[in-house]
Amino acid sequence: MVKETKFYDILGVSPDADESTLKKAYRKLALKYHPDKNPDAGEKFKEISMAYEVLADAEKRRIYDQHGEQGIKEGGGGGGFHSPMDIFDMFFGGGGGGMGGRRGPRRTKNLMHQLSVSLEDMYNGTTRKLALQKNVICSDCDGVGGKSGAVQKCPNCRGTGMQVRIHQLGPGMMQQIQSMCGECQGQGERIDPKLRCKKCTGRKVTRERKILEVAVDKGMEDGQKITFGGEGDQEPGLEPGDIIIVLDEKEHPVFKRNGTDLIMKMNINLSEALCGMKKTITTLDTRTLLIQTIPGEVLKNGDVKCVFNEGMPTYRNPFEKGKLLIQFVVDFPARLDPAVAEKLEKILPPKDEPIVPDDHEDVNMQEFDPEADRQRRAMYDDDEDERGQHGPGVSCATQ
Ligand SMILES: [Zn+2]
Ligand SMILES: [Zn+2]
Repeated sequence: MVKETKFYDILGVSPDADESTLKKAYRKLALKYHPDKNPDAGEKFKEISMAYEVLADAEKRRIYDQHGEQGIKEGGGGGGFHSPMDIFDMFFGGGGGGMGGRRGPRRTKNLMHQLSVSLEDMYNGTTRKLALQKNVICSDCDGVGGKSGAVQKCPNCRGTGMQVRIHQLGPGMMQQIQSMCGECQGQGERIDPKLRCKKCTGRKVTRERKILEVAVDKGMEDGQKITFGGEGDQEPGLEPGDIIIVLDEKEHPVFKRNGTDLIMKMNINLSEALCGMKKTITTLDTRTLLIQTIPGEVLKNGDVKCVFNEGMPTYRNPFEKGKLLIQFVVDFPARLDPAVAEKLEKILPPKDEPIVPDDHEDVNMQEFDPEADRQRRAMYDDDEDERGQHGPGVSCATQ
């Protein structure tokens, strides 16, 4: 039971979400609402970062679960929040969202894109085409912005890129205010309007549609990055950054993935559980596997069996595959015809017949709902805190 669910709601996960679910949720939302892609969603981006920062930290999450957002604000987590960009860079491995910390020649920032991929595609490998927009140096003017001689020193700032205004505060008191030149946006130069390039209207770059062929190799996994070096935005005087594709694995209706293992649930009925079963499984490359029990073998509810080499291929070593784990769920009949029960009884092992003393008590068995019981217990514990009496384990005795 958590006090409030706001942070979980922001990330779109349930309060019992595990670490990998939280990570996946943050990754998806952070890439979607990153200011590079969604300049108007700054507030949303901040919320996502804040929620993730709290929930990804076991101690802060515990405080949040118990005391809510107020508890976090009151310093329970220690220290303030990081900037959303820091969280993003930490998550995606530094400089993902900008140029922070990068050495060497100045580069344009990396462009990150998410690519949704099915488990089948990660099993079999595929090539996906991804269309995106990027800045390319104008081919007409080679990034100059106009014909030769078109570039002039900005007359407004005389090439410094800065504007200095003198502000008189009072008699003999002057204040110098320095700001970026509004005329040339701090560039120190401008393009002569008469010689301006028509294709890029002097912006030196044009926005172009680029098709990337993304090779999804066998065994790639959720969150894996595929980097296209130097394919980012072009800008005169800067090295282009990278385009980074982040894979997002779609949920599969049958298989769940755990590393190179695949896990599936299989429902069987009582007859199959006791008297043997034979079933088929369609693999991710559409082969049919036949599984069956050996004569006399009994499958219990929750039993797990595995098939070697029918899991996911290993990345860069695709002939090496993981295991397929099959978790059996035995569907018991809801009711049994008494006539059938009588017949069964003759076949099944004999029942236990207890010795019942004369002074026994007849009691009723009720349905038990663990969730309702937990809630009742939590309420009871609150009472106990206040009164400081009673031990645990009494709650079930009286109804
Ligand atoms: Zn041009
Ligand atoms: Zn200027």
